[in-house]
Amino acid sequence: MNETDSIDKPETKPRPWWQRIPLTLQIVIALILAIALGVALGAGNPSPANKSFIETLAIPSELVLKALRTLATPLILMAVLHTFMTTSIPGTAGRRLAVLLFTNTTVAIVIGLFVANVLRPGTWGNLAAPGGGETAPKSFDPWGLLRDAVPQAILQPLVDNNVIQLIVIALSFAIVLRAIKSEQIAQHKRGYQAIEDIIGILFDSIIRILHWVIALVPLAVFGIVGKTVAEKGFEPFKSLGAFVVAVVLGLALQACYYLTRVKFGSWVNPLNFLRGGTDAFLTAFSTDSSVATMPITFEVLQTKIGLRESSASLGALVGSNFNNDGTALYEAMSALFISQVIGQNLSIPQQFVVILTSIFASVGAAGIPEAGLVTMTLVFSSVGLPTQYIALLITVDWFLDRCRTVINVMGDMTVSALLDGKKPRSVDNA
Ligand code: ASP
Repeated sequence: MNETDSIDKPETKPRPWWQRIPLTLQIVIALILAIALGVALGAGNPSPANKSFIETLAIPSELVLKALRTLATPLILMAVLHTFMTTSIPGTAGRRLAVLLFTNTTVAIVIGLFVANVLRPGTWGNLAAPGGGETAPKSFDPWGLLRDAVPQAILQPLVDNNVIQLIVIALSFAIVLRAIKSEQIAQHKRGYQAIEDIIGILFDSIIRILHWVIALVPLAVFGIVGKTVAEKGFEPFKSLGAFVVAVVLGLALQACYYLTRVKFGSWVNPLNFLRGGTDAFLTAFSTDSSVATMPITFEVLQTKIGLRESSASLGALVGSNFNNDGTALYEAMSALFISQVIGQNLSIPQQFVVILTSIFASVGAAGIPEAGLVTMTLVFSSVGLPTQYIALLITVDWFLDRCRTVINVMGDMTVSALLDGKKPRSVDNA
């Protein structure tokens, strides 16, 4: 091999063995070790001599949370800009698509809030604040919300982690950049390409950094579970168990809503929809990523369910980037769950803010593993909930993320079926 060869094709070193263990397995191992450590440290009755050691166990999860918070706003900004720059959506279909995405996501959040209000999983156990629990709940001020929608300075939303302001800025730039791109294409100019490339590279780099953070999640789980078991025993996990049941129930109700919409809003038989979509659902559950599942979603929509290519591509391609109903439902439920845990029940107007920010947070959540956890920090901040509780949710997120990814994909498929309308493809050729 000559020198140029080695420059062109850098040798890819095999990854060390610990990096080849699947993340889920790493988290399960971390959980087992953490429980053993927590029990060894007293399981609810720790010796005062171990107090400072137990405190330090929270450090990895604090760092992971801080990193997630830091990445949340640039991730949303780049995700929105990237999608607008790289996908083209025809006018009427685009408007229909926007309405469908908005209604489905709103229904998902309302279902999530309904289940959380009825089951009240946060009251089933006693979940202690991981490391200080001071909160400053924000009251609801609709005019303030409107007044606040435009930031003081362009970078302000990135500094304040304000999701509504961020979406205003992101959408404004996205719409303008898209328009400029179309104008330049019509004039055979390519000036837009440079900015599109920069956005693509920035988006990619944020996702790569996010992968580093995700690699630390098992360590964070180990620390936070070890600390919780040592200090409080197993009582707090009852509450988390209830939360898992409630979220799974909420997601199942959302799936029923999709099947009903498919039945009454398209020509597709809901049973065929479920059967034909199995490959996509299984891929979503195993990869934990709706973007990674996208090619399969696109394929099954056309070949197994029989939709037109245009509807399949709009639902699958745009949906996998923007449409994350499972994530929206989960974020809203998490906010309500934690508010119940700390006994600061969110009022109806505050729940309205949760609906609004969860919609934006789910739009901005990239279709990759744990993205919902990243943008959840923004939903919590919007109603003044303490974000350090998210550290505890990390312990169950590896499972719930898979479940909500299946619903995210099912949501994209539902939108495709609805866009396909009441007449099957065969009618076009008749
Ligand atoms: N993993 C989800 C998806 O890929 C996003 C999330 O974390 O909620 O759709």
